[in-house]
Amino acid sequence: MGKATGFMEYQRLQEASEAPQSRKKHYKEFVMHLDDAQAKTQAARCMDCGIPFCNNGCPVNNIIPDWNDLVYNGKLREALDTLHSTNNFPEFTGRICPAPCEAACTLGIIKDAVGIKSIEHYIIDKGWENGWVTPQPAAISTGKKVAVVGSGPAGLAAAQQLARAGHAVTVFEKNDRAGGLLRYGIPDFKLDKNLIDQRVKQMEGEGVVFRTGVLVGKDFPAGITNWAKETVSPETLQKEFDAVIIAGGAETPRDLPVPGRELKGVHFAMEFLPQQNKVNAGDKVKDQISAAGKHVVVIGGGDTGSDCVGTSNRHGAKAVTQFELLPQPPEQENKPLVWPYWPTKLRTSSSHEEGCERDWSVATKRLEGSKGKVEKLIACRVEWKDGRMQEVPDSEFEVKADLVLLAMGFVSPVQSVLDAFGVDRDARGNARATTDGAGCYKTNADKVFAAGDMRRGQSLVVWAIREGRQCAREVDAFLMGDSVLPR
Ligand SMILES: Cc1cc2nc3c(=O)[nH]c(=O)nc-3n(C[C@H](O)[C@H](O)[C@H](O)COP(=O)(O)OP(=O)(O)OC[C@H]3O[C@@H](n4cnc5c(N)ncnc54)[C@H](O)[C@@H]3O)c2cc1C
Ligand code: SF4
Repeated sequence: MGKATGFMEYQRLQEASEAPQSRKKHYKEFVMHLDDAQAKTQAARCMDCGIPFCNNGCPVNNIIPDWNDLVYNGKLREALDTLHSTNNFPEFTGRICPAPCEAACTLGIIKDAVGIKSIEHYIIDKGWENGWVTPQPAAISTGKKVAVVGSGPAGLAAAQQLARAGHAVTVFEKNDRAGGLLRYGIPDFKLDKNLIDQRVKQMEGEGVVFRTGVLVGKDFPAGITNWAKETVSPETLQKEFDAVIIAGGAETPRDLPVPGRELKGVHFAMEFLPQQNKVNAGDKVKDQISAAGKHVVVIGGGDTGSDCVGTSNRHGAKAVTQFELLPQPPEQENKPLVWPYWPTKLRTSSSHEEGCERDWSVATKRLEGSKGKVEKLIACRVEWKDGRMQEVPDSEFEVKADLVLLAMGFVSPVQSVLDAFGVDRDARGNARATTDGAGCYKTNADKVFAAGDMRRGQSLVVWAIREGRQCAREVDAFLMGDSVLPR
């Protein structure tokens, strides 16, 4: 433990950030990592518990107490190595992970939890700043070839692990740049896209080949991001590679089947958000969906909805309202009851701070407009009884809406991609593969493994990284008979 009395002496510190009014004027990141002195005192708050629940709360099992101790003692290089030993991409999680580790922190039972995520952010940014993050090419080549379909965090983590184990890895990505939702979906103000570029460069230095603009399979539904210029068939991959990992995410959005859905001005969040990522990257976007001067209604209270709020405000929306079907959660969790698990509580994102009306227990009944364009949204209040939703009588109301963004989550992976591989599904339409025991991550299809949202359904970046790493180990064992890659 860095400092035995640190948890009594120091308060938890929020990372500094630019004020909402000024950050709303740009798309750049606005959260600053801790400085050296702050990181030291924050790390000193860690109690190095006998049983570190944080380590179990973190899906990649980051060895948090160890790197807290190393940061406190100024051994930053060692802290970075310890962090990288369990997490390929801490620069992503250190910025956008919801930090379930902190919900599991023992100090959190009686005080504010250790600021684990902020320390992770600090370590990795220092690592890049100091030039410590360099390619680690494998010493030997196994002569085996692996194809990874999808360059989101799951595909990237799997590719990096397998390249370091000596396999020749090619990543196929239908979009024009690598990164999955990290690139196209998550706004630039939450995650600077240079961070993805520098990782891709590192991975290329380790021998990973990226083939962007290539769709694996033939049929792909309209309305889902797809900038492929060529296709390759699953059979070709199965013939030319010794193993294939499908990590294509869960891209089928949940729709809103109400009257008026067809009106102009009603869009899925994932039509709206990637366009702004593209514009920020310097690309031309024809007929960009704009929130400028509009009354924007975002339907769906999760991360994606919140990203729509932040992006709409940056466009210069007149007003932004966000509706959620579920009831408003409590402001504070009952800690002794829920610890060390992830609590349901009211979460206010940085985008909410920038300006947004939020309302809960609201269902959309229909959308209305004129000349084919949406103008208002008719909603009602709902009550939840025994897990069932009921409309509150006489509760109908309407709000002005020139732009309606649907952010109600994702139903499943694109089924045509799974069809093309002949992969079995689970009850929710995800690629069927287990995560434990012999043959885990392997699908029913010959040589084909699955990881990330494509296997588990819509989830988090940190879970995708975990699955990519674990899947890589299984692929390595499948190819070599055994594996020394960590799970
Ligand atoms: C708007 C938004 C905001 C989010 N914010 C957060 C957040 O703040 N924190 C967090 O932890 N999680 C967040 N998430 C969830 C997180 O991004 C995902 O859980 C995670 O990216 C899943 O990783 P993945 O690698 O499984 O899939 P994805 O990131 O979806 O990547 C899959 C990739 O596969 C490609 N692909 C698919 N099919 C094919 C094919 N047939 N051929 C070639 N390429 C193909 C896709 O183009 C895509 O690039 C957010 C999600 C969204 C939509
Ligand atoms: S990856 Fe997420 S859960 Fe794990 S230590 Fe970092 S912030 Fe916590």
